[in-house]
Amino acid sequence: MRLPMGSVGIRSLFSLRQPKNHQKRGLRLVQFYRRGDGGAIRVGVEQAAGLGVVDLKAFEPSVPSTMKGLLELGDEGLACARRALSSGRCVLDRSDVRLSSPILAPEKVICVGLNYRDHCLEQKAAIPKEPVIFSKFSNAITGPYDDIVLPSESREVDWEAELAFVIGRRGKHVKEEDALSYVAGFTVANDVSARDWQMKRNGKQWLLGKTFESFCPLGPALVTADAVTDPHKLGIRCLVNGEEVQSGNTDQMIFKTEELIAWVSKFVTLTPGDVFLTGTPPGVGVFRKPPVFLKKGDVVECQIDQLGSIINKVL
Ligand code: MG
Repeated sequence: MRLPMGSVGIRSLFSLRQPKNHQKRGLRLVQFYRRGDGGAIRVGVEQAAGLGVVDLKAFEPSVPSTMKGLLELGDEGLACARRALSSGRCVLDRSDVRLSSPILAPEKVICVGLNYRDHCLEQKAAIPKEPVIFSKFSNAITGPYDDIVLPSESREVDWEAELAFVIGRRGKHVKEEDALSYVAGFTVANDVSARDWQMKRNGKQWLLGKTFESFCPLGPALVTADAVTDPHKLGIRCLVNGEEVQSGNTDQMIFKTEELIAWVSKFVTLTPGDVFLTGTPPGVGVFRKPPVFLKKGDVVECQIDQLGSIINKVL
């Protein structure tokens, strides 16, 4: 598929205009494969949404070759990425780069159900008093432009555009007021869901319906928190074959980033690279009348203001 520069990519370019002082500049971190490189994963920084990618390992050979490794370095890793971006060196043309998910093999993929007021109303569900937490296995993760593979076990595969965030440092019992300092950045997710397995099978435990392989497209970039004006005021959309099926705003989130980090870290230690999917706005296929599910050949695009767009063909 021809990809990165969709309409949102162009919009992002405008929203990402930065001051000239590169030291204070937010980063669009990516993981990528370099064409002709034998499939080794690398970490890079986009010059701007959809533009050239600075190869961090080429700039500084001691840098880890995965995002998780880079995040584990903390501020030192981000400072190196900023120096690389400012240097203007080691820039790969977009045609030489294939983006992967910005994070692979995180220790945890933590998901939140029923976290948009308007999505609760759509299905006549009560507004939750505590976050509804479930998970996917990390091998559900796939790249921003990779295919969603329909499993033969399901006939009810659905879309859910979601704001995702990635943890940047280790924490347990994190206080809400400190929570944002644990966020490395934000990205776009599709919480692809097999409704038959989520809602009718497996004792109504959601796990199996949520974790088929390729059911967690992520990307295109991990946009560092300092580059996002307000993560809880972003337009979020899903288009299926170009038709808008979801159009919402993250201001509808019931439990925001800080509350989710404080809540989940009561139960488990958060570690760098952990991914949170924060819930979806209304407009999913299963609640349409009649219900609509994905079929072979469909193209699903999830967009979030300031972050970009992921586009996945259904196979
Ligand atoms: Mg979801």
